[in-house]
Amino acid sequence: MAKKTAPRIESFGPKSQEIIDISMKYEIFTHWFYTHIRPVVPDSAEGVIVRDVDGNEYIDFFSSFATMSLGHCHPEIVETAIQQAKKLTHVPDGPNRPRALLAKKLSEIVPRGLTKSTFSLGGGSAVELGLRLAKTYTGKYGIIAFLGAYHGRTTLGVQSLTTTNYSRQGCGPFMPGVIHVPYAYCYRCSFGKGYPQCDLWCARYIESLFKGQLTAATDIATLIVEPIQGVAGNVVPPDTFLPELGKICKEHGILFFVDEIQTGFGRFGDAMTASEALGIQPDIICFAKALGSGFPISAVITRDDIAEKWEPVMSSETFMGNPFLCSIALKSIELLERMNAPKKAKSLGAYMLKAFTDSLKNLQLVGDIRGRGAFAAIELVKDKKTKEPIDEETWQYTADLTLRKGLMLNFGAGNYGNVINIVPPLIATEEHIDRAVDILTETLRQTQKKFLF
Ligand code: PMP
Repeated sequence: MAKKTAPRIESFGPKSQEIIDISMKYEIFTHWFYTHIRPVVPDSAEGVIVRDVDGNEYIDFFSSFATMSLGHCHPEIVETAIQQAKKLTHVPDGPNRPRALLAKKLSEIVPRGLTKSTFSLGGGSAVELGLRLAKTYTGKYGIIAFLGAYHGRTTLGVQSLTTTNYSRQGCGPFMPGVIHVPYAYCYRCSFGKGYPQCDLWCARYIESLFKGQLTAATDIATLIVEPIQGVAGNVVPPDTFLPELGKICKEHGILFFVDEIQTGFGRFGDAMTASEALGIQPDIICFAKALGSGFPISAVITRDDIAEKWEPVMSSETFMGNPFLCSIALKSIELLERMNAPKKAKSLGAYMLKAFTDSLKNLQLVGDIRGRGAFAAIELVKDKKTKEPIDEETWQYTADLTLRKGLMLNFGAGNYGNVINIVPPLIATEEHIDRAVDILTETLRQTQKKFLF
């Protein structure tokens, strides 16, 4: 994804081109321009379908960055927005009914013991608030994060945790005290081992930081982890990994901070949070994305005693706990609970993983297919044995071809940009999945023919 030169921007039609030209002239480059040589310019969307300004339609199996679990423009979300907009849109950071009820609701869907929330607008700022809670409570500054981590890149705090080199370049030095350690990325294990024979060597490695005297692991306030590493290519660790991390944190007096910005609200499967599904007891959890169904709201939730260390006015933001956004978040949770999102994610995900695996596993280009809940990933390689990743030209070609056939996926994920993340809205049907599988299979066959054979 780390493209250094100005990208070549093409379009899907004259109306799209007109808008791209204005953006190119008046905007600082956006993410999309780097990951797609021909970006979609959406005009409207409904459910799983996005329409661009030229009238082309796309199946959105990207959920606008794992956000639209309920699909686009869900009628009850739209109605909630209209009604709340007529009633009250903004009051400064202070008490209001939707905010209070949202805090209460969040405490009901997380593991017991997490009771107090605060809000912000984006995922990165929720993580930032969580870091401040951890530092204030422990009086320490050290943070253990993972290679491949993505916790936001809007502020220097979270940028210091996020490992994307292309967003760090030129911004350092970063917040001191951050130690990055290998994640349980079994397809490309940093230790060259294999699960389960490894006995979770990556967790043992973290433990070893606290045993030796030459490990530079001092004054650690918190360990922050994604239950599935999204930007790293939907990397799914063994189910024992997070429980093991929880134990290590407890043993060494470190706060266990779980970033559920992608996994929250059922997408992980089995429960409304990955934490509940895995039976772990984090000290801090943050949420965003599906919480707002496309509106900007995020949350961080923690224990009473951690929250109590936070003095009044230690943090504030104009739109923190905004009633309009909180009412939409409340409705999102209600709808996700009503549809039994964890069950739907699990069944949809199982169908999706099997369908993609059956259709793609024999392609030379496909190195790994993995998933959990409604997350799937396909890792593309030049050679299945050496696992050498495909190059940028190849994945850009695949991304463009897939879009031209009417399917939106998250291309350019992973350490080498060679992973396709698939995160459909939870309202997607088996027919949508079958169509997505057909398109991707056709695309990858064409890619393979052009680049490999
Ligand atoms: N954490 C995770 C796990 C994420 O996936 C993201 C966004 N991709 C963030 C944090 C940052 O969220 P935002 O882009 O809203 O700042």
